[in-house]
Amino acid sequence: MSHFTKQILEEIRKDLVDWQPKVEVSNTGVITEIKDGIVKIDGLSECLMSEKLEFSDGSYGIALNLEERSVGAIVTSKAHNLKVGDIVKSTGDIIKVPVGLPLLGRVVNALGASLDGCESLENHSDIKHYPVERIAPGVITRTSVHRPLHTGIIAIDALIPIGRGQRELIIGDRQTGKTALVIDTILNQKGVDIAEFLKSKNKKNVDDHKTEQPVVCVYVAIGQKDSKVAKIISTLERYGAMKYTVIVNASASDPATMQYIAPYTGTAIGEYFMHLGMDSLVIYDDLSKHANAYRQISLLLKRPAGREAYPGDIFYLHSRLLERAAQMNTENGGGSLTALPIIETQLGDVSAYIPTNVISITDGQIYLDTDIFRSGMRPAIDIGLSVSRVGSAAQISAMKSVAGRLRLDLAQFRELATFAQFSSDLSQNTLDKINQGKRLTEILKQKIYKPRSIYHQVLMILACTNGLFNKVKIDDIQNTASDLISVLDDKYADNINELRKTNKLSKPLEAKLLDNMRDILKS
Ligand code: ATP
Ligand code: MG
Repeated sequence: MSHFTKQILEEIRKDLVDWQPKVEVSNTGVITEIKDGIVKIDGLSECLMSEKLEFSDGSYGIALNLEERSVGAIVTSKAHNLKVGDIVKSTGDIIKVPVGLPLLGRVVNALGASLDGCESLENHSDIKHYPVERIAPGVITRTSVHRPLHTGIIAIDALIPIGRGQRELIIGDRQTGKTALVIDTILNQKGVDIAEFLKSKNKKNVDDHKTEQPVVCVYVAIGQKDSKVAKIISTLERYGAMKYTVIVNASASDPATMQYIAPYTGTAIGEYFMHLGMDSLVIYDDLSKHANAYRQISLLLKRPAGREAYPGDIFYLHSRLLERAAQMNTENGGGSLTALPIIETQLGDVSAYIPTNVISITDGQIYLDTDIFRSGMRPAIDIGLSVSRVGSAAQISAMKSVAGRLRLDLAQFRELATFAQFSSDLSQNTLDKINQGKRLTEILKQKIYKPRSIYHQVLMILACTNGLFNKVKIDDIQNTASDLISVLDDKYADNINELRKTNKLSKPLEAKLLDNMRDILKS
């Protein structure tokens, strides 16, 4: 016997001495049918609803239909290698995804796997795993929405304010600027470095950061073209916004099953930051495509089709997702998760099934209109139809004091403008009000990717409602206002700082600022 053979025999002998027979109990089944990412499995008698299943090729599935003799499940990958007769094991667990600080700046798929070619997230020491589905925080652990989430869009922050922990729907036809609106909102969250903030937060009181606390953004792209998502990522990179953003992409080329899980994954990533006592913002772009993916899955699972062929539990699909948005109370960390779902309507039909469902789940909606978009008013927000049911409680005092007047003037303008269409002989008073309305509408226009700070918004509204732009041509108002504010920032920094520090527009400060602005406009 050669030396090597002896050595090998010795090794085998050693292994055999240590060998202990193990008994492993696992609940298994056999695939009986497979099509379009949906499998039917015989057996798995103890399978739970939404349980994670393991296939023989290493891919995973989720049990969605529990029938008397079989289980219907979705496969979370392309399922190229699965075939009838393959063994399926239940895991006793539900699907989990990686969450944590290392996700910031990353692009991941619906299961949290890296899509950007950078290092894998699974092996990172700071990564935790959260279940994709989680029961929403109970009412006892929550508090009312009371802190603003500034979008940087003057029409929203002034008239339809959004609070941290709120669910605000963005609804409109295709190509009306829905995505642009949420990207602007992400860009506006630029500020404090998240990792630095977390370090300092442990030392300070949570209340010190009432409005300054940074917001982590999670953008979930559902059923969009990869090229569109790539454009969004490059925009976010260009403006330095990827540092505090996570992108979850389940594109149109991904299976419907991935599109179905993506929003839950995005929410789990946001929840991690909420549990740290931070603020997160999750954007679902868009839930109409999510509903379509779920309808496709349900029909393949042979569930009965209901209205518009959607399954009966389609409402629950979105309600259990959006219920997870919350503002936690101080005992529970004081973090928040704000949800901005997007819904695409067909020819402005908000009374279709999915739009009405999501309208009733959310705390308000921002309605974008094609005609307004074409008329050149961008962002194309229909102020009359848009509401925010909880937001005004979350406006800073300075904005509250100028927005009241703005809302009133705009409402008067809208009424008079319709009435004025039919008459030629208008009183001077009516004409003045119409002109003022036109100027205010002009102030609400905003270029894409140019969010404005809340203080600049306050100053612009203050100037316009006090008639400072009365002599300026309507077309020049935007430029005049921008110039005015940049000079004001430079020349009268003390007054601006007072506004920033107190967040209030006291009578003396208001008078001072108006004087400053008149001075600048005169010169
Ligand atoms: P889709 O239905 O295809 O998802 P959408 O409703 O998300 O479209 P966007 O893609 O955001 O709309 O915008 C449509 C077009 O309008 C884009 O070309 C965008 O550049 C332009 N746009 C959006 N907002 C503005 C704005 N405030 N100013 C100028 N252009 C804008
Ligand atoms: Mg879009």
